[in-house]
Amino acid sequence: MTESKLPKTGRNWTELKAAMEEARGSDLPWYDRKVFKPAYFTGDDVVEVADRAYEMHMSDNLLYSRTSFPSLGRYEDEVVAMLLELLRAPAGADGGLTTGGTESNVMAIKTARDWARRHRSDVTDPEIVASETVHMSVDKAAHLLGLKLVKVGVTPELRADVNAMARVINSNTILVIGSSPPYVYGEVDPISDIAHLAEENDLWLHVDACLGGFILPFARKLGYSIPDFDFHVPAVTSISIDLHKYGYAAKGVSALVLRDKNLDDYRGFAVQSLAGLYATPNIVGSRSGGAPASAWAVMQYLGEEGYLQSVERILNIRQRFLDGIRAIDGLEVLGEPHAYNFGFTSQEFDMYAVADGMAERRWVSGRVTSPRSIFLMVHRAHETSVDDYLSDLAEVVEAVKAGNIQHRGATDVSAV
Ligand SMILES: *Cc1c(COP(=O)(O)O)cnc(C)c1O
Repeated sequence: MTESKLPKTGRNWTELKAAMEEARGSDLPWYDRKVFKPAYFTGDDVVEVADRAYEMHMSDNLLYSRTSFPSLGRYEDEVVAMLLELLRAPAGADGGLTTGGTESNVMAIKTARDWARRHRSDVTDPEIVASETVHMSVDKAAHLLGLKLVKVGVTPELRADVNAMARVINSNTILVIGSSPPYVYGEVDPISDIAHLAEENDLWLHVDACLGGFILPFARKLGYSIPDFDFHVPAVTSISIDLHKYGYAAKGVSALVLRDKNLDDYRGFAVQSLAGLYATPNIVGSRSGGAPASAWAVMQYLGEEGYLQSVERILNIRQRFLDGIRAIDGLEVLGEPHAYNFGFTSQEFDMYAVADGMAERRWVSGRVTSPRSIFLMVHRAHETSVDDYLSDLAEVVEAVKAGNIQHRGATDVSAV
């Protein structure tokens, strides 16, 4: 039954709860073992901590964290301090929490724009340079902020093409963006090389570590070879990092960190009004304290040891997928992924036919348009899926090769 009108008289919770349980009946369970649409799970105990902490502060307003809810201000300061250490920030760095990776990227670009208004006053029409693998939130930010976004291609290894970046940088360029890693491929962009461009051209360098921020530092500690992508590279000005992805916090929290707290002057917005001074660091005004509290609690619960174990387990799961996919004749993995996300394709047959065949067997995964590929993002619930997935994949590939499965053509490819 669809309720499209405000009821004349209210309904009781028992009835509403039943209606809502029915409504979500066909929703996908968020960390189902057959679903590879991005979800981030590392154990029921962690979900419990994330949810409980969220509930405790659900109705507290982060907007008033400096007045009514000092606990929220404390969580924010402590989460940022933990992130600065994780990202090897120098003394004097600072940052703040946002609602998600999109807001972190929008705020990074807004901060860079306002910094350039002061430091690059010669610039009339500011431009951003990034690779075509950059996350769509950067397109959104450029649109919202009225900036021009110039995208370049990638190298055969699927990393941002630094030479191509150098060619499009001009006197209007204020900002260059690298991803570690981009949303689709687990390859980290060559941040140190991009840093040279930033230094030579007096550019703000933003690193989108929304996805990799909670993986790469721990993978490095575990002995994996991880390129420098963080504040260890001196020209990196800002980094976005999502707590609600592989940080395992409840949805609605990410961070933007800045190399120098003086850059905060360009980040915020303030206005004197009838209600007095209204000063906020982000786009949103009122927001629940639930997700920031959840971020603090999960980071304290897992500790470095918990994240190291989680990263190790998931990198092992990824490796089993990679080995299994590479062992299937005709399939190839795109690049040398450093993180948990990767795509795989084929030169011989249509990957969308393979994707259709896997979908028929109820595996839910992403599709990439160029090259046509299947996109997987793995987490711990997939530990028990690897063997089933790979045997289904081998069978589906055989069927595609034999012409028994053809791509139906109409499937839309949606990043969301
Ligand atoms: C997920 C993601 C974003 C956007 O984050 P949201 O939390 O969905 O707003 C930005 N960049 C990268 C690399 C991402 O993976």
